[in-house]
Amino acid sequence: MADREVGVDNPENSQLQTFSIFQSVLWCNVASELWNDLKHRFYEGDLFQIVDLQEEMFAMKQGDLSITAYFTKLKGIWEELDEFKPIPSCACGASCSCELKIIREYRDQEHAVRILRRLNEQYTIVKSQIMLIVLLPNVNFIYSLLLQQERQLIN
Ligand SMILES: [Zn+2]
Repeated sequence: MADREVGVDNPENSQLQTFSIFQSVLWCNVASELWNDLKHRFYEGDLFQIVDLQEEMFAMKQGDLSITAYFTKLKGIWEELDEFKPIPSCACGASCSCELKIIREYRDQEHAVRILRRLNEQYTIVKSQIMLIVLLPNVNFIYSLLLQQERQLIN
């Protein structure tokens, strides 16, 4: 019944239809396999780079670096990590009130601890003062405090 409605009585027509369906199914399979393959390869590559960046970040310490060099290096790693694992943007605009705000805060706090953690000993006092602030300040603010301290140490 249904066959007759779409006019498949014509054998040529029916063959053609079967063929085109077969073709598109075949193409779909090939395309999705290709896609999965590509996605898989790219994704694995990204994962390795993410882990490399994280290891570099964990190994970072101030050492011989000035505050600016130390901060710039850490910031560079964070920016690269953000490119690989961006926090999705939301539609909230300037005053975000969704769950992504919490995720961003977690990230900012981790950055704040990261920069403070491996500072040289001369910064122990300013570091403990910053750590006393309940919600750790933004890294840019920490950076400016550290710069002030660095200036005092040099003079
Ligand atoms: Zn939001």
